[in-house]
Amino acid sequence: MCYLLTVVVPGRVGGIETYFDRRFQFLDFGDSFVGRAYRKVNPSSAVYHVVSGGCSCDFAKKAGRKEMIQLFKEGFERLMVRVSVASVLNHWYHGLCEEEQVEVKREEKVLLDEFLELFPRIEEDVKYVIKNPAFWGRKSGKGDVPVRV
Ligand SMILES: [Zn+2]
Repeated sequence: MCYLLTVVVPGRVGGIETYFDRRFQFLDFGDSFVGRAYRKVNPSSAVYHVVSGGCSCDFAKKAGRKEMIQLFKEGFERLMVRVSVASVLNHWYHGLCEEEQVEVKREEKVLLDEFLELFPRIEEDVKYVIKNPAFWGRKSGKGDVPVRV
């Protein structure tokens, strides 16, 4: 019924919404099918739904509103200066978002600038692990980062 964009960071970020325009809200999604799956990978991961007006359709779908897409990207870039690695999953929910069993197709490792260029044309149900090379060094390319999300 709606797109919901999940953003996962390695630990709780106090005031995470302050990195973004105030039209975005961050809802704790840790206690959901998706959240539990993420926290199996890293128990200290913080799992959020990012919404504007109740869902993520305004900025997370290809035909979203240009202004909102731009604002999301700007906020995400600020957040990445703080967290250095994050993962993003876009899914079209058919029912209750807490219990829907989302099947993740695969994991893609991308650098921050690649992600910003791609968004919102990211593939649905693909887990994008985004790395800010300013932290981990471009030399390490798309290799693993010390933190899993
Ligand atoms: Zn919607």
